[in-house]
Amino acid sequence: MEDYQKNESDWTVVDAFTNEIYARLAQIALDKENIESRIQDSYLVSVQPLFSQAVGGVKLLVKETDESQAKIILQQYHESEMRAAKEAESQCPYCGAGHVRRLELPGWQWLFIVATLGIGGLIFYKKFECPHCGHRW
Ligand SMILES: [Zn+2]
Repeated sequence: MEDYQKNESDWTVVDAFTNEIYARLAQIALDKENIESRIQDSYLVSVQPLFSQAVGGVKLLVKETDESQAKIILQQYHESEMRAAKEAESQCPYCGAGHVRRLELPGWQWLFIVATLGIGGLIFYKKFECPHCGHRW
């Protein structure tokens, strides 16, 4: 029990996520660099997602000795995730062609969608068009 207590104090939170999947993905990034990590509060958050905010999300912990290195790895991980998200946006998911066109939504269409479907209706709005195959998403 004493050893357990001692070990507990050696762990520190380096990141927090809104759900366990994101936390697990970041954990994989740390695993690749041989940094041991743990996930905390995932049970509570998955049972009641509303608790996610209250407990500060699903936390990723590393040993205090790995803290600075883990933070660098996680920063690189988040940057590469953002790059990947941007690339996915600028590439046709149907044929894989690049140089897709961003569709501008005319004001009246925007008003129509919001008036009929509510603000949530905007998620159905197609934002890009592929000049190669015509696919819209
Ligand atoms: Zn296409």
